[in-house]
Amino acid sequence: MSPVVIVGAGPTGLMLACELRVAGVATVLLERLPEPTGQSRALALHARSAEVLDQRGLLDPFLAEGVVWPHGHYAGLRLDMARLDGRHRYTLHAPQSRVEALLEKAAVGLGAEIRRGHEVVGLSQHDDGVEVTVRANGDEYRLSGSYLVGCDGGHSAVRKLAGIGFPGTPSSLWGVLADVDAFDAPVAIREAIISERGWFSVIPLDEKLTRLMFIQDEPPRGDVENLTAEDLRAMVREMTGMDVAVGRPQWSSRFGDATRLAERYRQGRVFLAGDAAHIHFPLAAQGMNTGIQDAANLGWKLAATLHGWAPPGLLDTYHSERHPVGEFVCTNVRAQIVLTFPSDRMAPARDLLSRLLEFDDVHDYLSRRMSGTDVRYRVDGPQDDPLLGRRLPDAVLATADGETTVLATLRGGRGVLLDLSAGGGTDAVHGWSDRVDLVRADAVPDLPPEAFLLRPDGHLVWHGRAGDDGLAEALRNWFGVPAAANP
Ligand SMILES: Cc1cc2nc3c(=O)[nH]c(=O)nc-3n(C[C@H](O)[C@H](O)[C@H](O)COP(=O)(O)OP(=O)(O)OC[C@H]3O[C@@H](n4cnc5c(N)ncnc54)[C@H](O)[C@@H]3O)c2cc1C
Repeated sequence: MSPVVIVGAGPTGLMLACELRVAGVATVLLERLPEPTGQSRALALHARSAEVLDQRGLLDPFLAEGVVWPHGHYAGLRLDMARLDGRHRYTLHAPQSRVEALLEKAAVGLGAEIRRGHEVVGLSQHDDGVEVTVRANGDEYRLSGSYLVGCDGGHSAVRKLAGIGFPGTPSSLWGVLADVDAFDAPVAIREAIISERGWFSVIPLDEKLTRLMFIQDEPPRGDVENLTAEDLRAMVREMTGMDVAVGRPQWSSRFGDATRLAERYRQGRVFLAGDAAHIHFPLAAQGMNTGIQDAANLGWKLAATLHGWAPPGLLDTYHSERHPVGEFVCTNVRAQIVLTFPSDRMAPARDLLSRLLEFDDVHDYLSRRMSGTDVRYRVDGPQDDPLLGRRLPDAVLATADGETTVLATLRGGRGVLLDLSAGGGTDAVHGWSDRVDLVRADAVPDLPPEAFLLRPDGHLVWHGRAGDDGLAEALRNWFGVPAAANP
């Protein structure tokens, strides 16, 4: 089998490498940087990302070194994530450099080949595969693959080489971040300060480092990538009026609110995922999370295609399912920008929103949206069904073999028929037993005592009585022709 070639060892590419290897697909990941930068733009994983990691057995090291917060925010207004359904009801403090290190370790452990210092500079595709031109060690070589996935960030070379448009709007708001080794702040500025000059926030990263973030509606002046302690001290003074000693910056960078969404997530055998497909302002920790969840959606579909059992059109559902998610994330982030800047004009709207958040329905709607737990894909069945197309909330399951969880049943990267009905009739899965596992467990409190058919990414495509005709149809729709019927 020709490998799937992934371009970019950021969180998206590394997660995809794990997904493909769990499903037994040969994977080569090309990364232009010779080694990781060790820098962290993103700092947080949301509940759905934690679930996606858990369903592959990858979450424990993240929990071991991360810090669990019971809250998140919408436009800076606090959300209570402990009210989510499922078992991962939190935001996990997880700096991007550690997310990448842990995912890389997992991907390599699962057998992915990662080539660092290898930059993709050309690509072509034909009916049976793709070919990329790779620059490495001052030379160029060609690599063939079955499919190519551009996880190569906002300036994606793959997207440009494939001729996929990236329409959207340029930046009108800018941020500067600096991670400093000391910040002698009075307690009063340990939280975000929003004023007519912009937004200033102080985020403790660990015992050694503190992140300073400045957001303004004019481009930052000077050499932002090389700020000194004195530069930062002046910026804090300008933004807050306070004179505070600032330590040495470990690194500093700028970012903006340019918002763009790829026209297509698929072009033949070439796919886009993560920042290569969508960029927006980094408000409320959406970018890395959306990329990780893109990877979870795409990985099993590529694997199903390469293993020969994918039903017709399965690969196209990557675009039809994830493009609307990317579009919503872009809109949702822009809504939060509008609600935040300029702060003096938006104060009444924020006040109103904070009152609306006292209503459970509003609070829960936004918490589910921000955590990624409410994503719903279109599947056959009643469109008002509250469960279909969504991920099944995680729960502890009692089986004849002992205790497990909904997410743990997905560890093999296969489909699962979870039968909570205490009944028979689940022989229906027989013809698909090479790609769908049957798990029988006792009924759980928040789910009907029925059978549930889960895709390998945990989304529910059917539920009902185990003997219903609809089950065989759903199995065919999502898992292809049963093995016995294969010629
Ligand atoms: C200040 C800030 C704070 C943020 N906070 C959060 C947060 O808390 N939570 C969150 O979810 N998101 C956050 N984000 C967004 C997050 O950092 C990005 O969404 C995330 O990095 C996207 O991951 P990715 O893997 O898609 O792309 P990237 O992380 O950009 O990785 C792309 C990789 O591709 C490589 N590459 C590029 N071109 C080539 C080529 N031609 N050949 C080979 N390799 C190539 C690059 O070297 C890079 O390693 C934040 C962003 C900023 C700026």
